[in-house]
Amino acid sequence: MNQRLPVQGPQGDLLRLVATGRAESRAELARLSGLAASSVSLRVEELIDAGLLAEEGAGTSRGGRRPRRLRLSAGAGVLAVADLGAHHVRLGLLGLSGDPLVVEEHPCDITEGPRRTLDRIADAFDALLTEHVPPGVPLRGVGTGVPGPVDPATLRVVTPSRMPGWNDFPVAEHLATRYDLPVLVENDANLMAAGEARWWPGTENLMVVKAGTGIGCGVIAGGRLHRGRGAAGDISHVRVRSDSSVMCACGHPDCLEAYASGAALMTALTEAGIAVTRPADIVTLVNDAVPEATSLVRGAGRRMGEVLTVLVNFFNPDVVAVGGSLSAAEPLLTSIRAAVWERCLPLATRDLEIAPARAGRDAALQGAGALLLEAALTM
Ligand SMILES: [Zn+2]
Repeated sequence: MNQRLPVQGPQGDLLRLVATGRAESRAELARLSGLAASSVSLRVEELIDAGLLAEEGAGTSRGGRRPRRLRLSAGAGVLAVADLGAHHVRLGLLGLSGDPLVVEEHPCDITEGPRRTLDRIADAFDALLTEHVPPGVPLRGVGTGVPGPVDPATLRVVTPSRMPGWNDFPVAEHLATRYDLPVLVENDANLMAAGEARWWPGTENLMVVKAGTGIGCGVIAGGRLHRGRGAAGDISHVRVRSDSSVMCACGHPDCLEAYASGAALMTALTEAGIAVTRPADIVTLVNDAVPEATSLVRGAGRRMGEVLTVLVNFFNPDVVAVGGSLSAAEPLLTSIRAAVWERCLPLATRDLEIAPARAGRDAALQGAGALLLEAALTM
C-alpha cells in the first residue's frame, strides 16, 4: 500500500496543477506549465496509464472543440493528516486534491509526551486506512500539526510551552519509522493558514489568526506559507501596553497571550467565580450575555487588534482571517476591527478585509493536505 508516487519532476508538476484545481484540461496544463502541447499530451497519457489521472466528459467550452476534463483518479492515493491540540487530536484521510474522505476527533493528552501521542495518531491512521481505503490505493504522505514552534529545517518542536517532553523531539523521524513516505510536521497555526488560503482564491497576502487556548498566527505571503526560520507569525509573546503587570508562561511580563488567550480569559473567569473548562465555554457565556465574559472578550479583541495594527501596517495584507475556538464569540472580531481601523494607515486598511475564517474546523487538515501534496509530488 505504501508505494511511492512513480512520478516526480514535470509529471508531478502536471499532477499538482490538476490536484489543486488550477488546470482541468491539457490546454490549461500546457499554458500553466510552459511545456509544449505534445509533451503535455504524452505525459498525461502516461499519468492516465499509471492510474493517477482520469479524463472524462466535456470541460468548460471556450468555443470550438470542447476539451475533455482532467481530474485525479480516485485511486491516485490518499494522505493521512492530523491536527494535534492540547487535549484533542483531529485526524483523517484526504484525497490528493485535499478533500476530506473521513475525519475523526479523539481525546489526547499532549503531556503524555511525543512517543505515546504520535504512536496513537499512527495507530488511528492505520485503523482509518484499513477501514476506508480499498487495497491498491496508496498512502502518499503523512502529516501532523503541533501546537508549538517547529524548526522547518529539522522538523523538530522547539521550546514549546505546555508540551513537556517535546522539546527537540524528532517528530518527523519518529513518524518515518512507521511510514516510508513524505512526512510533514508543522505548527498548527501555519497549517490553519495554509488551509484557509484555499478558501481565498486570488488572495496573495493573508494573515490567519488562531484564537483558541493560545494565540497563533500564520502568514501567507505571495500565495505561499511564510515560515521564516520557524517562528514567523508567532504573535503570542508580543508585549502589550498595560497598567497592570501579568507574568506570561514564557517568563516575560505582559505578553499578548497573558491577556488575550483563551487560557488567560478562562483564568480570569474562574477567579470571578464563573466555571469554564475550555474556550468554547467562553463563547457560550458571551452568547448568554454574561457581562464578565463579554467584557473580557472585548478586551482580548482590543489587545489583539493593537498588535495586529503594527503587523497590518508592516505587512499590508489583503485579508486578516480570524479563526480558532474563541473566534465564534462575536465581540472578538468587532473589537479587532475597531482597533485596526482606528489606528492603521488609511492605505493599509483601504482594501483590507478582516473576516471570520472560512475553512472551518478542518482548516489545519486541509492545510496539511495542501503542503503534503507538494512534498509528495516533488520528492
Ligand atoms: Zn510570553
